[in-house]
Amino acid sequence: MPYQSLNPFDGKLLKTFEELTDAQLEAAVHAADQCFNSWRRTSFAERSAVLARAAAILRDRVEDFARPITLEMGKLIGESRGEVALSADILDYYAEHAERFLAPQPLTPDSGEATIESSPFGVLFGVEPWNFPYYQPARFVAPNLMAGNVVLVKHASNVPQCATAFADLFTEAGAPTGAYTNLRISKSQVARTIADPRIKGVALTGSEVAGAVVAAQAGQWLKKSTMELGGSDAFIVLEDADMEATVKWALWGRVNNAGQCCVASKRFIAVEAVADRFLEQFIAAMGGLKTGDPMDQATTLAPLSSNEALDKLVGQVDRAVANGARVVMGGARVRGIGAFMQPTILTDIEPGNPAYGEEFFGPVALFFRVADENAAVALANDSSFGLGGSVFTNDVERGKRVAGRIDTGMVFINHPTWTAADLPFGGIKNSGYGRELSGLGIQEFVNKKLVRVADIHSPA
Ligand code: NAP
Repeated sequence: MPYQSLNPFDGKLLKTFEELTDAQLEAAVHAADQCFNSWRRTSFAERSAVLARAAAILRDRVEDFARPITLEMGKLIGESRGEVALSADILDYYAEHAERFLAPQPLTPDSGEATIESSPFGVLFGVEPWNFPYYQPARFVAPNLMAGNVVLVKHASNVPQCATAFADLFTEAGAPTGAYTNLRISKSQVARTIADPRIKGVALTGSEVAGAVVAAQAGQWLKKSTMELGGSDAFIVLEDADMEATVKWALWGRVNNAGQCCVASKRFIAVEAVADRFLEQFIAAMGGLKTGDPMDQATTLAPLSSNEALDKLVGQVDRAVANGARVVMGGARVRGIGAFMQPTILTDIEPGNPAYGEEFFGPVALFFRVADENAAVALANDSSFGLGGSVFTNDVERGKRVAGRIDTGMVFINHPTWTAADLPFGGIKNSGYGRELSGLGIQEFVNKKLVRVADIHSPA
């Protein structure tokens, strides 16, 4: 697909962009490689000043940064503003804490001295998705620039204006040429970039399919990689949950960002004692959503990111129904312009149904009724994904026990899985490997080097 901005609300083509020629790509890799030689020698204070300035610019010009998100991928404007603020938080967080996270760590060996020092890998290559056009690259770029790495970013082809705005932000904040470069490149150029010996690490956030391709390419060239992939998070409702608050979070967990979050709540698993009550209230809450212009504050359900995304989702629902699922509400696209999906709830999804194992990227909830807590945990774990999940209960200790039995990278109690600069983010199984954010995220692409002082006269 060429790089183009196409408004999914009204179908208007806003702008198209040329891909880089091979010569332009080579120049970008060369500039990044050159930049690394000087950037790695800058102090934490110098790097931190660039990131803090970038954060301040985001906060000063929230509207300028928020509007392109809504125009290009349809996010509700209030959520776009929230994403700009969250991205600024991530930049500030690493500006403030990176030096501490990467400080030399003295060890206590049996004899002599030993220290672990952290040093940057070099030029890193990130492949990023459209669903959070600033927040996703921020998770990759902020820790790595602070660690002394430099970054090349191939952003999704449907958010080229956001991709440009985010790269320009760092230039305006004083980052040198080559520290952060936006690459509008084809898939074959992605493969060649990964193979380039100047590239020292690869990070992808996106689908399982893209992750498998890019991870294999990175593996072929023995490059360290991190993979932040899809999910099908369980939202477990136990009999002692506060039902009103739980339903409020069920709605938010499923439809924020029009349901297009890796950690959206996708499988709603309620124990028998409260299943009818939960389902009835969930249907009512989903039924109250209002589609419309995502620029309008009154709209509560945004369009999907594109007509292709809508076609894919409708196809998944149709296939689910053909394989025995029951539609209790919605089930189809909204007629008229705009890539809108009706708020949808499916039940009666048995293990043989393809829907049982798929990620639904939109406002389509899969509802399951189970006997008890044990059955809820077993169903939550019966997934090839392992990203997030949540447990709703009035008993926090019970919630923690259940969380301990769920095989994912993140579990929240009484809230859908969500994100903050100081909380690690990432999954296991087909949801990928590695972590972003927090003190863990900055360690992925640094060399943890042992420096040992030994007694030259010690016995061999
Ligand atoms: P996608 O189709 O996999 O695209 C993600 C990025 O990968 C885009 O830049 C895309 O470029 C590129 N890409 C796709 N196929 C490629 C290939 N064969 N070789 C090289 N690059 C390739 O995913 P998406 O639809 O944008 O994003 C949605 C998915 O991302 C969902 O599964 C979601 O759960 C997941 N996600 C995960 C996280 C997390 O942290 N775990 C966060 C957000 C989203 P083009 O746009 O040019 O195709």
